[in-house]
Amino acid sequence: MKKHLLILAFLILCVGFKASYAQDFSKVEIKVTKVAGSVYMLEGAGGNIGVSVGPDGMLIVDDQYAPLADKIKTALKTLGEGKLKFVLNTHYHPDHTGGNIAFGPDAPIIAQTNVRKRLSEEQKSKFFNLTMPASPKEALPVITFDNAVSVFFNGEEIKVIHFPHGHTDGDSIIFFTGANVVHMGDDFFNGIFPFVDLEAGGDVEGMTKTVGDILSKLPAGVKIIPGHGPLSDADGLKAFHNMLVQTTDIVRKRIAAGKTLDQIKAEGLPEEWKTWGSRFIKTDVWLTLVYNSLSAKH
Ligand SMILES: [Zn+2]
Repeated sequence: MKKHLLILAFLILCVGFKASYAQDFSKVEIKVTKVAGSVYMLEGAGGNIGVSVGPDGMLIVDDQYAPLADKIKTALKTLGEGKLKFVLNTHYHPDHTGGNIAFGPDAPIIAQTNVRKRLSEEQKSKFFNLTMPASPKEALPVITFDNAVSVFFNGEEIKVIHFPHGHTDGDSIIFFTGANVVHMGDDFFNGIFPFVDLEAGGDVEGMTKTVGDILSKLPAGVKIIPGHGPLSDADGLKAFHNMLVQTTDIVRKRIAAGKTLDQIKAEGLPEEWKTWGSRFIKTDVWLTLVYNSLSAKH
């Protein structure tokens, strides 16, 4: 029963999929936060939305769920009357792309090649035991790229860079180079264990490498929008990286010592990681993801 509830929580809060439409979206409020320069963050249900607002109009990064589209549009109006010009998708998960169907007819959707590929085809998830149907044409990205693309918008270069095999195989991280803001997509869950979609090309060590690479290049004073959790900064991302390194190391050593997944879960994690498992991904699920990710390579 507990496991059942846990899976339901994933469905609703982390990845969405079909069950998301059973959620009561009428209670969801969209919270608007100014981040820096022309960049804002919207929180509702699902992944955090980044917004660029200025003389060129609006650009959004991710769009949560279709039933929230009207509320998101209302929230965007409070930021100005500018027209929506571009939609970026950080990855294919429905809690980040569910609104594509509502925003796609208004503005071109831009995403990494694998995002369009996955949205175009039925996706089966063994982890969630469900099937996601292919998206209709109007919800698909119409501009795709393999490695990187830039959008010159509202007086700055918005760099969209692909990082392979982290949360999924189609992750992009968005750099608002003028505002000094980074939207990490789901390669950053602020203060909580992340979901890693191993069935869609995700990899725990890949995510750790991506986060480490980003950390080594961050300009001073940068603000960071995580895929999930509150607005953050370099210190918050450092804490997430430290968690990834330390907890993966624990699992790696236990595997090397010949321990089974059940034994590894029974031993749990040190107290310092307790709060990280208090939300979507509980400690034993995180240990399972790390174990499966490491085992897949051997
Ligand atoms: Zn995701």
